[in-house]
Amino acid sequence: MPKACVTHVIPLAHLVERKEGFETLHGHNYHVLLCIEKVLDEHRMVMDFSDIKSTLKSICRKIDHKVLIPTENPRLKVELGKGSVKLKLQNGKEYILPREDVEFIPTRNVTAEEIARHILSKLKELIPSDAKLELTLYETPSSFVKLEI
Ligand SMILES: [Zn+2]
Repeated sequence: MPKACVTHVIPLAHLVERKEGFETLHGHNYHVLLCIEKVLDEHRMVMDFSDIKSTLKSICRKIDHKVLIPTENPRLKVELGKGSVKLKLQNGKEYILPREDVEFIPTRNVTAEEIARHILSKLKELIPSDAKLELTLYETPSSFVKLEI
């Protein structure tokens, strides 16, 4: 079946937990490659590229230039203040960020895998149900994850 693919870049920051503890807060310019596989429509298209791009952008807009924080990590305590978010890590380190710069993700750890899953689950609600979606998320040019639904 034919596939139509688009790319998009999302700069964002994340706080990742490893075996040794949390990494320092840092960011990446994530490159998204989204492919949609389905039968051609009456216009002989999988889907109009501009429609795919606008759908992908509408989802990415919410996390673009944000600090992604997991909501289900027992080693991270989140305190919502007046216009701010305080993060207390198990090792005693604390971050205070403006609330408007933070986006919460319902997961234990904001890894590339979980960011891809988050984007894909939102896309599934907006793309025709007969389409197969494949999302590749590049954290760096040599490190990426790939998910399909
Ligand atoms: Zn990272």
